Amino acid sequence: MNNQELWQAVLGQLELILSKASFTTWLKNTSIISHNSNEVVIGVPNGFTKEWLENKYHKFILKSIQDITGEIKSVKYAIGAAISNPINEFSETKNKPKTNPKNNEEQKLEKPRNKTAEPNRAFIESETNLNPRYTFESFIVGSHNELAHAACVAVTRNLGTNYNPLFIYGSVGLGKTHLLQAIGNKAVEDDPDKKICYTTSEKFASELISSIRDKTVDKFKLRYAKFDVLIIDDIQFLSGKEKTQEEFFHIFNALYQKNKQIVLSSDRPPKAIPTLEERLRSRFEGGMIADVGIPDFETRMAILKAKVQEKNLNISPDVLNYIAANIQKNIRELEGALKRVQALTEFSAKTITLKEVESVLADVISASYRKSTTTKEIIKIVSEFYNINSEELSARSRKQEIVKPRQIAMYLMRSEINTSFSSIGEVLGKKDHTTVMHAVNKIQEDISLDKNIEQEIILIKQRIYNQ
Ligand code: ADP
Ligand code: MG
Repeated sequence: MNNQELWQAVLGQLELILSKASFTTWLKNTSIISHNSNEVVIGVPNGFTKEWLENKYHKFILKSIQDITGEIKSVKYAIGAAISNPINEFSETKNKPKTNPKNNEEQKLEKPRNKTAEPNRAFIESETNLNPRYTFESFIVGSHNELAHAACVAVTRNLGTNYNPLFIYGSVGLGKTHLLQAIGNKAVEDDPDKKICYTTSEKFASELISSIRDKTVDKFKLRYAKFDVLIIDDIQFLSGKEKTQEEFFHIFNALYQKNKQIVLSSDRPPKAIPTLEERLRSRFEGGMIADVGIPDFETRMAILKAKVQEKNLNISPDVLNYIAANIQKNIRELEGALKRVQALTEFSAKTITLKEVESVLADVISASYRKSTTTKEIIKIVSEFYNINSEELSARSRKQEIVKPRQIAMYLMRSEINTSFSSIGEVLGKKDHTTVMHAVNKIQEDISLDKNIEQEIILIKQRIYNQ
């Protein structure tokens, strides 16, 4: 077996266990550069990838190679083998990336806020739209966001060349805006002369519309084309806005060609944004894509502790534990719960009891716990997700763009609320129960075969339970 064949076999196995984003990010432009009976050396494009593979996937890579060759004792990683690599060389002389973000949590919590950013605050707020509260220092890293966090940090180390564009996606309240703004704040802190712009796709679109009205489109384009870092949040709202997409495409290209950094966020991956022009989609997919998921208990606790420390609150570990155990899917809600408890402690003279906390959080928690949804809600959420009309989804229409979303709605009604096949048929196009059974099976099969479908369904479920 030659190097290439061996690596292909290993990649084949890795592909099965990694998300698509991780797989492409960390294994794109890697290869085996040497291989004897003892040792395999894997060439990687940069130091960042090297550390990531060493820390996260080494065991798996080693085991996978051993399974295939039956002999190798060690695997090493060497930088610089990827010749045709579009990702630029990572500068080893700069600060090294933190290898295991988790181990740095405590250190991070204790680290004082960087005061050198203070004098720039007025500038930051007025010119760039950045909120100084959103920094990497105040961001807790857990397994749900470590890829996105690492990518954002990498971007600030080498603006415009490391990962361009950087595309972060995930459900609401999970830290996308925080990360995007942290990139902007860090970039200003590192170099106050850099021109940074943070905006949302809605703001971008409305500015464009005004400039069309005032016949100042050229000025609008020029203004955007001069930024060193352009950050656009919630890009999914460009969906269906053709003119805005067109102008954005030109601005994107102008910046990209000058190696200016572009950072985008969305509630879903580029593939799943309906009516997004193909050329924009392929631009987005040409960079780095990373997702943020739902934090585990340990991370939720770490986030709460950080907020408590930041605001110097006096809240017992029991209470924090209770909040972290009960609010699971949205960090904004986690913060909201903490605020309520804080208010409670401020108004009461003695230490609050867990009972009091339970009652003040009762409605928040019951909403977050709400495991069941309704067929109506599923229809609404699925239609919104695919940007189609909900009446059409529940009618008999056989339009191709309706068929798949309808099958997914059928699948979700079955898997999430165990609706009977005939009732599902009733609410979705008056189909008979065998058609519904077929659809449910088909989607089940698609999920196991197609990572994109799997991902879309995860995102839709997140929406169902984030309501
Ligand atoms: P999104 O843009 O994904 O909807 P946000 O970035 O607005 O979410 O995050 C919601 C709130 O949760 C913000 O106040 C943010 O500071 C906080 N938050 C999210 N993730 C983290 C994290 N990992 N560490 C600390 N705070 C976080
Ligand atoms: Mg946001």
